[in-house]
Formats: sequence, C-alpha cells, structure tokens
Amino acid sequence: MRLMKRRSYKYRIYPNKTQIQLLSRFFGSKRFVWNTCLAWRSNIYKEYFESVTGIDFSRGLTELKKLESYRWLKDTPTTVYSQALRDQDAAFRKFFKEGAGYPRFKSRHQLQSIRFQLDQRVIVKNYKAGELLKIPGLGQIKVRWTRVPEGLPKMVTVSKDSAGRYFVSMAVEEAIQSLPAVGKTVGIDLGVNQVMTLSDGAQFVNPRHLLKKKVQLKCLQQRLARQQKGSNRRLKTKFRIAKLHTRIADERHAYIHQITRRMINDNQVIMIEDLNVSGLSRSSKGTLDNPGKKVKQKSGLNRSILDVSFGEITRQLEYKSDWYGRTLIKVDRFFPSSKLCSTPGCDYKAEKLTLKIRTWTCPQCGVVHDRDINAAKNTEIKGLTQLAPVGTKGPQLRDAGGEGVYPMAVSPRSLDQPNACLEQV
Ligand SMILES: [Zn+2]
Repeated sequence: MRLMKRRSYKYRIYPNKTQIQLLSRFFGSKRFVWNTCLAWRSNIYKEYFESVTGIDFSRGLTELKKLESYRWLKDTPTTVYSQALRDQDAAFRKFFKEGAGYPRFKSRHQLQSIRFQLDQRVIVKNYKAGELLKIPGLGQIKVRWTRVPEGLPKMVTVSKDSAGRYFVSMAVEEAIQSLPAVGKTVGIDLGVNQVMTLSDGAQFVNPRHLLKKKVQLKCLQQRLARQQKGSNRRLKTKFRIAKLHTRIADERHAYIHQITRRMINDNQVIMIEDLNVSGLSRSSKGTLDNPGKKVKQKSGLNRSILDVSFGEITRQLEYKSDWYGRTLIKVDRFFPSSKLCSTPGCDYKAEKLTLKIRTWTCPQCGVVHDRDINAAKNTEIKGLTQLAPVGTKGPQLRDAGGEGVYPMAVSPRSLDQPNACLEQV
C-alpha cells in the first residue's frame, strides 16, 4: 500500500560570497521583525489585555518600510517576513493551547533560519530535484543533493548552524510504500549506557567513534574553562566546541536512524516507554554563548548528550511506524517496568530497586533478571495489553503490505500529522 506522507529533506548548501552577505542581511532583518513584533504584542497584551497577531503587525510593517530610516527592510524578500510572523503566531498558539513556553526573542548567536515560500506558478523554472534550486532574493544556490525528492516543495528553509554551515530543508508530499507485515513484536527500554535494550535481549550501545568524540569534547570544555574570558584563544576553543557538537549531533542522528529503521523492519508492533521529553528538550547545556548553570550537577556529559536522543528515538519511531504500517504503543512512564518480574505467571514486584542494581533474582520464581532486559520485557507485555480491537479507539494493528499476518485495520491518523524530520523553526 502506498500512502501520501509529508517527508522532509535537508541538504548542505554552499552559498557564494554575495549570497552569504545577503543571507546575513536576511537573517538580521527577520530577527528584527520577529523581535519587534514579539515586543509589540507583549506590550499590547500587558497594557490593554488584548491579543494581536502577526497579520496585524504585517500591516504596520508595510507602513514602516515607507520610512526612510527603515528602507533596509525592503532588501529582504517579503516572504521571509510573512513566514516569520506566521511562525510566531504558531509559537503563540502552542503557548496558549499546548502549554509550551512563551515565545523567545531571537539572538544572532543562535541557529539562524529563514523560510521562503516558493511560487508554485513558476516552480518548474526554479526547481528541479537533484539539479536546480533558485531561492527568492538569492538566485541559484549550490546544493549537495544527497537524495532526490519526488514531490515539489512549497517552502524551503535556509539555516546556518553554530559551526557556520548552511543548510536548506524542504518538505514534500510523497507516496511511501509500507512494509510487508511481519509477526514479531518488541519491547524497548531506553538507557544511558545501553541506548536501547530489547525484550529479546539484544542491546544497542553507543558506537565507539561517538564515545571518542565525547571524550574530545570533554577535553575542549575543560580547556575552555581554563582560558581567559574574552581572549582569542577562548573564542577559538568555543568555535571548535561548536563544531564538535554539530558533528556529534550528526553522527548520533545517523545512528538513531539506523537503529529505529531496524526496529521498524523487524517488528510489527513496537512498545516503548512514554518519556516526558518536553522537559528534556531544552538541554541544560544551554547554548554556546549562554551556557546553562550547574551543568555538571544536572547532567554530566553523557546524560546531556543522550537525554535529547530519547525524544529523537521516540519521534523517529513514531513517524516511521506511521509511514511503514507498523504500530507504536507507548507505555505509561509510571508503569514500574523494572520492578516487576517478567516471568510469565509470576506477579512478583520488587519494593526497591536502586539504579545500581543491574541484575536481580526473583525470590518468587527464582529467575535471574538483567535489569534492562526485564524492563523491556515488561514494557512489551504491558504494551500488548493496550492494543485496541479493530474499530475502537487506541493503537491498532495496521494493514501493511497486503497479505498481512493481522486483520486489516488502519489506525485512525490524519495524513498530515507532523511526521517528517521537520526542524523547529
Ligand atoms: Zn518471578
């Protein structure tokens, strides 16, 4: 079965000198519009308890552009502003409806990003997958096409990371072939030492090259701590740290893609602990120029890097199971998966089980448990009880390839749910 899904692509781009100058101007102007609008709506709310939107602001922006002192605003394509204001509206919606944090001011030290709408009437002239990309106001841009998308993008995002690299990302509607059904199910336990432990006993650890980079990172961070504030050497170290961070992030991302894809290939139903990731998403490390406080106490090197991965693993399993016709079941995170004995028929529950204890023997049935494997097994057992019968609400078995092992049932998900590797803008 082929379903239309939104799929995101991200490529490294190599802007020329002129384009770099233009981009830096676009980033700056977008920041100005974002921050001015944010200040304006916060003020109006404080003074009059009224809420205004980005559309209201864009009218003011048109007026502003007419003034001599704000003429520079005209140098940036209007689409950049309208997308930024739209994003801010979305950020406010998230704040009001989903309890997300209050939208923040943007600084030039963060990751920079701008979005461009591509004119669909002339798209064939400006875009050819794998060959050509022309962006409004920038012209043709050199892209390293690592994959060739099928559909046509409506929008592109151009970003620059803290290591000074430029990227373009786009989302396209694509038909995705679901995988043929398989009979296996799996429970997954996420951990710090073992990234993933499966209910069948398999374990995935951090790859060695990743660990090596983390040691390098630690060295650099210690060096930074010794260096004098404001010195040139310190700046150099900062930049090297930023570069290493991005490289670690890239490798970790690739690794997570590899293992989640494997989970999806091998299993029809995947059970995982429902972690509260929103609290973890803002890493305690802080940013390059605004480091978090008490980083060591809060996390330690390993944790700070891995915490973020938990969310990423879940996110990838979510959209991949949606794409490929698998079922992902999240088990309540307060379910005591490590404390229960997973032997069929045994209902023993340990009172206390400190993190130090890696193996334990069940006094009731005498089985020796590896802590993580036992937790993964319990997650699987618990998850399977949550599987909903056809036609009811909840996670269901889905028809995948046709000659399914399972009765036909497609989980009631909307097609346009946020799935792909979309970046948060
Ligand atoms: Zn037992």
